[in-house]
Amino acid sequence: MEAGDRVPADLRLLEVHGLMAQEAVLTGESVPVEKSTRAVAADAALGDRAGMAYSGTLITAGQARGLVVATGTATEIGRISGLLGEVEPLVTPLVRQMNRFGRWLSGGILTLALLILVFGYFVQHLPFGELFMAVVGLSVAAIPEGLPAILTVTLAIGVQAMARRNAIIRRLPAIETVGAVSVICSDKTGTLTSNEMMVATVVTGAGRHLRVTGSGYAPEGRVERDGEAVNASEVAGLVDLARVAWLCNDAELRQDDGQWNVEGDPMEGALVALARKLDIRTLDNDGPWVRTDLIPFDAQHRFMATLNHDHQGHAGVFLKGAPEAVLDRCRWQLNADGEHEVLDRGWWERKQEEIARGGERVLALAVRPEAPEKTVLVFEDVADELILVGLVGLIDPPRPEAIAAVGECHKAGIAVKMITGDHALTASAIARQVGLTRAESVLTGKDLDALDDAQLAEAVRENDVFARTSPEHKLRLVMALQSHGLAVAMTGDGVNDAPALKRADIGIAMGRKGSEATREAADLVLADDNFASIVAAVREGRTVYTNLKKVIGWTLPTNAGEALTIMVALSVGFTLPINPVQILWVNLVTGITLGVALAFEPMEDATMARPPRRRNEPLLTPAILWTIVTASSLFLAAVYGIFLHAKAQGYPIELARTMAVNTLVVMEIFYLFFMRNFYTTSINRKAIRGTPVVWLTVGLVVAAQFVMTYAPPAQRLFDTRAVPLVDGLLIVGSGVVVFGLLEVEKQVRLRRQGRKAVAGVSAAQ
Ligand code: ATP
Repeated sequence: MEAGDRVPADLRLLEVHGLMAQEAVLTGESVPVEKSTRAVAADAALGDRAGMAYSGTLITAGQARGLVVATGTATEIGRISGLLGEVEPLVTPLVRQMNRFGRWLSGGILTLALLILVFGYFVQHLPFGELFMAVVGLSVAAIPEGLPAILTVTLAIGVQAMARRNAIIRRLPAIETVGAVSVICSDKTGTLTSNEMMVATVVTGAGRHLRVTGSGYAPEGRVERDGEAVNASEVAGLVDLARVAWLCNDAELRQDDGQWNVEGDPMEGALVALARKLDIRTLDNDGPWVRTDLIPFDAQHRFMATLNHDHQGHAGVFLKGAPEAVLDRCRWQLNADGEHEVLDRGWWERKQEEIARGGERVLALAVRPEAPEKTVLVFEDVADELILVGLVGLIDPPRPEAIAAVGECHKAGIAVKMITGDHALTASAIARQVGLTRAESVLTGKDLDALDDAQLAEAVRENDVFARTSPEHKLRLVMALQSHGLAVAMTGDGVNDAPALKRADIGIAMGRKGSEATREAADLVLADDNFASIVAAVREGRTVYTNLKKVIGWTLPTNAGEALTIMVALSVGFTLPINPVQILWVNLVTGITLGVALAFEPMEDATMARPPRRRNEPLLTPAILWTIVTASSLFLAAVYGIFLHAKAQGYPIELARTMAVNTLVVMEIFYLFFMRNFYTTSINRKAIRGTPVVWLTVGLVVAAQFVMTYAPPAQRLFDTRAVPLVDGLLIVGSGVVVFGLLEVEKQVRLRRQGRKAVAGVSAAQ
């Protein structure tokens, strides 16, 4: 187990290196406790059993091995499993808002209905039966019964679409927020780059600059000096360097179907490949070096060290890490004769910068011989007096799809910030390659420490690349960005990234290399660790949000139109143009069927060409509200127009009502085509071609309307009559007219908005 892991079973610890476990789930103790292999009293309380690691707890630091002593329900956590796993809310803020709106609306409508009933009966002395039907009709009409169902379907489709793109939503509310993201803070290694590392440069202790050939993790390739292959034994210090790379390492290379893969950290895998290219296994023919102790890598101290013994009674400390961290601990360097001389720190720093400038990740390697009796390695042992054996430079090319995704973000008004633990020059070179703006100006963790919160808030606006950062910096950066009202997405993989992920509006964990701790803190998990998947999630998130808005903007006018029709009828003493059963039919059958089509709406072309929506933007923007009002009024006018026309023709009331209800459904269909393209035109080939789902739902609804109108059993149920062909055409014609009017209004609005946006941009410039 290592930092970030969730303990998989109850374990008796056998080997422990600086292990700390967060056991709050079991003991309630909020600070991580230190573990050891010592025996404790047989009756020690759970929290004091230092020799045990318990299933379900989190490792926050160190490494350990243990023996499984209990699994499943036999574990300590298993016994209290009923208490485990909080229930996640299954509604999003928007759905909650809509539910609240629905309850409020229902309450209001029912009160109004009651008042009308009392007033009509006692004051106007209307017949109770008729009045009661009208009031029921009003209640049914005004309440959008189908809306919650369609909203849920829309969200479910969004979750599925994201999962198909390797972005797994862990908390449903995140699906709304992800569409509003205005800054993405991303790790470099593995997210923007492919995390397929290879050592390309080696500088030995004696200052020899070598290039390494090969591809991927295959341990095949050669080490060259000025284009000529060299043997490890020919270059002073090269064997020592290969030995550190080989021993201070937890990765393994495996060949599956001819393909070389790493088990463990890809960077360490690359070092194993280097050591094998240098044929370390033959060179170390004195026998294997056995690891006796270890200081595991940690993003805080940025190095890893091992203590090893060989069979000839030698012992040594082998250390690798970020050059600054290693140079701080070295006093000597290995010269061409294999002897120690005083370290020329300035020379190594320049060398490191030279390699980093090419975008390579630089690691420094060091050793120190030890007395054979030494078996325990602590921090003081590696504080100084180490001998530098050289530097290695690792290439890790940017992911091609990440380059495209960064470009897409910039078009969509989303800022991309790179926050990496790597060296400033490496970060800057990779930032340039992936197309980040302002790649040259890099702030390091040290720079950030020197800034107070106000200065930092200023600095985050002007910089896109942050290097040599530790996890605490991520938290500060999130807060600084949020202070500008930005919705921040933050990626993380290490155990210490969890607080930053929790704080971010969207915390993103890596599915592959990420630790369990970050995954638990995250809202979104990337199955492929790829930056492009974040952008795909944002795209889907924007689509879901737009579709939710369309569903609401489409449903409400239908209800409002119906309710207004009945209210007008009541207030001017008309007979109801639509009866309550018909209204229920429109709301529950045609409404839900057509509404579902909007849940399946594909992404609009302009989705990623718009800036992100403001964090607190209301769902019903003025444009949507205005459309709801206009559409409701037009629906009312059309339904009444047709109803009055039918009555003027002397048609029976049943036929007039049939025509009115058919008009309402025709309006819904045309309004659906209008709403589908709320932000563009609805009159072009693509818009009219629609999608299979749209035509399927329209086909179903038209068929259902024919049955309702012409099939005798349905006529009995709904009290409908067959509509003559000419009147049918008139109804469809009224739909075309309403559609035309709405479309003209939309075009005027879009033009006006376009002009405003252009004016805004030129003012900003
Ligand atoms: P990014 O934040 O871009 O994903 P990262 O997560 O790999 O980068 P860290 O893990 O914080 O960054 O590593 C910081 C530095 O520590 C690296 O640049 C490297 O020099 C050093 N380092 C990383 N892994 C190891 C390791 N296993 N052993 C020794 N040193 C390491």
